[in-house]
Amino acid sequence: MKAYQELSKEELLTLKAELNAAYEDAKGKGLKLDMSRGKPAVNQLDMTMDYLDVVNSQSAMKAEDGMDVRNYGGLDGIPEAKKLIADILEVKPENVIVCGNASLTIMYDTVSRAMTHGILGNTPWCKLDHVKFLCPVPGYDRHFGITEHFGIEMINVPMTPEGPDMDMVEKLVSEDPAIKGIWCVPKYSNPQGYSYSDETVRRFAALQPAAPDFRIFWDNAYAIHHLYDDRQDQLLEILSECEKAGHPDMVFEFCSTSKVTFAGAGIAAIASSKANLDDMRKSMTIQTIGYDKINQLRHVRYFKDINGVREHMKKHAAIMRPKFEAVLQVLENELGGLGIGTWTKPNGGYFISFDALEGCAKAIVAKCKEAGVTLTGAGATFPYKKDPKDSNIRIAPSFPTPEEMAMATDLFVLCVKMVSVDKLLENR
Ligand code: PMP
Repeated sequence: MKAYQELSKEELLTLKAELNAAYEDAKGKGLKLDMSRGKPAVNQLDMTMDYLDVVNSQSAMKAEDGMDVRNYGGLDGIPEAKKLIADILEVKPENVIVCGNASLTIMYDTVSRAMTHGILGNTPWCKLDHVKFLCPVPGYDRHFGITEHFGIEMINVPMTPEGPDMDMVEKLVSEDPAIKGIWCVPKYSNPQGYSYSDETVRRFAALQPAAPDFRIFWDNAYAIHHLYDDRQDQLLEILSECEKAGHPDMVFEFCSTSKVTFAGAGIAAIASSKANLDDMRKSMTIQTIGYDKINQLRHVRYFKDINGVREHMKKHAAIMRPKFEAVLQVLENELGGLGIGTWTKPNGGYFISFDALEGCAKAIVAKCKEAGVTLTGAGATFPYKKDPKDSNIRIAPSFPTPEEMAMATDLFVLCVKMVSVDKLLENR
């Protein structure tokens, strides 16, 4: 098959007629599939049901240090849960606070606290005329939602397979004291599945921000979410890198077990320097007397240790892998060599990122929707939902079955072809 750009107007018109007929057929199939959000599939949740049995009415309810998990107290989390999270993030337990059920809440609270109370004695952000965040794009829509909600100006920074464009990050951060943070998903990024290189992490640690309260918001949501045993991305541990570089307080790291046990019902944590955590505790003690320690205990009793978590993640991978492969196979078979799209091939995480020809993403998503396949809204992967090139589409293969994924991707590639042909005909 020739690249579409090389087709004559007549060839494009013939192709258009064929594609239109195929699309009408596809619409007749009454598909109803959702590839919009990175939700675990029902069999992933079923697989984890025995986790609910490990803490029951017969269980001893004391944590390792003797604390009764049914009662108030233990603001930081029980010691064994801190250790488990610390092992997942490869940090020390004293650098961890285990909070509630969702890391997004911790991120929101961290930004909110910086707005109202400031970080480590610095001026609260709400008292400043300008507060800006760098946003590697494409990125996670809910990060951008938080900063938009607080009126923080967002600046796009292009992603590369090694991480954000660090020349740009270094320049902006060192020149502009209004830049207070950057959103990062450093491993199996949402949506591209890229992992930051060692050099990128070291350059982050070596940043010389103009703002003393600049923080890297390091959302390590997919730290252990590999798809393969023999192809696992490795990420340099940022807290110790920052310490070595003389910037121990520059990072807030976040994670959760939302995609390890149950989505929205796992445990979430923050890891940071002692100074940052002490600062946080001052507000946290006003906010809560302690989080759900029973759930923390349940996690530790179920997994025992990091090896238990790793074994469990292999079971998730076995369910996820065929779905990713189904999508990648259809993309390669149907779009390979046509010059109308590029896509990522991640080793982990929950997403595949697709870039269509400029100006096509919205139309592709709309065409898919009309035929029964829901994708993440075009633009959602950018601040203010504005993709300047209208080209990026996030594919979330986790929820449907591999067969459904293949069907949905068949429709997706058909829509990509139709919209690309229309786009190319505009200029003929
Ligand atoms: N961060 C990233 C990068 C995510 O993709 C997600 C879930 N889609 C979250 C955070 C949400 O995590 P939690 O359930 O812990 O709030």
